[in-house]
Amino acid sequence: MTSLTFYGGINEIGGNKILLEDGDTRIFLDFGKSFGREGEFYNDYMKPRSKGCLRDLLCMELIPTMDGIYRDDLVHILGIEEVIRELGVEDTSYWDQELLSYGEVLERDGMPWLSGVLLSHAHQDHCGYIPYLDHRIPIYCSDVTLKILETVEDISGDDFTAVKPFGVKRFQKGFFPGKPAIEGGDEVSRDIRAFSPGEGLRIGRLRVQTFAVDHSIPGAVAYLITTSDGKRVLYTGDFRFHGRLSRETREFRNATRGLKPDMMICEGTRVDGVEPDSEERVQADCTELVSRVKGFVGIEFAWKDLTRFETIREVAKASGRTFAISARTAYLLNKLGCGDEVENDPSVKVYVPRKDSMIYSPSDYSKSKYLAGFSSDWNEAEPDTRHLENGVRAYHIKADPSRYLLHLSFWEFNELVDIQPRDGGLFISASSEPYDEEGMIAEEQKKAWMRHFNLNPPDHELPHVHASGHISGVELKAFVREIEPKQMFPVHTEHPELFGRLAEQVHEKIKLREPYEI
Ligand SMILES: [Zn+2]
Repeated sequence: MTSLTFYGGINEIGGNKILLEDGDTRIFLDFGKSFGREGEFYNDYMKPRSKGCLRDLLCMELIPTMDGIYRDDLVHILGIEEVIRELGVEDTSYWDQELLSYGEVLERDGMPWLSGVLLSHAHQDHCGYIPYLDHRIPIYCSDVTLKILETVEDISGDDFTAVKPFGVKRFQKGFFPGKPAIEGGDEVSRDIRAFSPGEGLRIGRLRVQTFAVDHSIPGAVAYLITTSDGKRVLYTGDFRFHGRLSRETREFRNATRGLKPDMMICEGTRVDGVEPDSEERVQADCTELVSRVKGFVGIEFAWKDLTRFETIREVAKASGRTFAISARTAYLLNKLGCGDEVENDPSVKVYVPRKDSMIYSPSDYSKSKYLAGFSSDWNEAEPDTRHLENGVRAYHIKADPSRYLLHLSFWEFNELVDIQPRDGGLFISASSEPYDEEGMIAEEQKKAWMRHFNLNPPDHELPHVHASGHISGVELKAFVREIEPKQMFPVHTEHPELFGRLAEQVHEKIKLREPYEI
């Protein structure tokens, strides 16, 4: 039987987890974190317990209860029985999940249950739960997506490409030396199979075509999957026509025009949007705003959004200001091979915050090396301190604010204390308007900072200048009509009903966890 089963991404923005089965070949299209569902229970300060393994996520129904996909060490911690017996713990059920791990099913069936994951791009709502999957499950993604995932890993220490299994070890130091504790075992590498978009893939019975598309993060891909009996499933991932790489989405449209796929799984984040967004408008509006200000100018945007980086780079150039960028963005640019180009551009410099002992000493950055230079694995004998030497520091901006345009996120606002902006400077938000309670609270806090430093006078409101990462409803409908799918599954949207009659059959009310036969 060939079927599609949805485990997330239905009536919500993100959290895509879609299982495609063709006999014994099974793949997930994305395995993303659902921010909406997680947000119902958790916030920044209260998260699922990281050492609670899968238990919290399974209990709160945030990840699918499914045999044969999760890491052995998360389903059953190695050596736990002896330890908890030694500690006098009576109930052992906390350390055993009521499902079979990848390895257990592999042993039972002599073959893996899941053949792979097709990852569309590196946003958390598409890849965020992959770390729980067994490292032997192949993850297919574009080469750029892999570089982004490695960057995030280098910077934040998340384990994505390298998996550190849980195990029971003895504490060597601390209050109770010799006592057992749950700690990481030896690291293993995840099976990631990166491709350049356009390349074809073969996964078991499935043939897969890959298409580069434009989105608010580089490396995004759409997939066309052909099953063993010739049925075709088109999965768009997230995409748009109005970014700097819109040529890619246009080529995707040309390649799929009149395709008449049996099923089309299509994102609809902005299906209710009547006007197409425009990155050029962001550039023009920001240039206009900056041109009116003589003093300090700061701007927030997502550090992985390199389209926005290029846009603001143009704004800085047009305003005769040096673009002081986040070291995270610089690190990603370097990883993608653009480090030299950025280093050699006199109008772009990396902003270096004070850290640790707060004296701009190279040793202050030994725990956050990417802040001091392009490398994240230098030792103290040979530190890469290129940003420390050539970058911009708070006191440079304080002394001459009109020379700079500073890339600054809300969680870096403490820098304003060192920069001391005065005389009615400007702070622009080049990211989406707040859409949930947490975002509204953050917006009020940002406004308080604006008021405190007399930024954006007189009302201290943040101007939001943004173009979405997603295609507008008008463009989306025209696009789908050209493809002429037989069946449509709207995902990544709160308005599936607006897909109307775009296909012979539009599944407005997709049932979670129920297979749809292809
Ligand atoms: Zn996305």
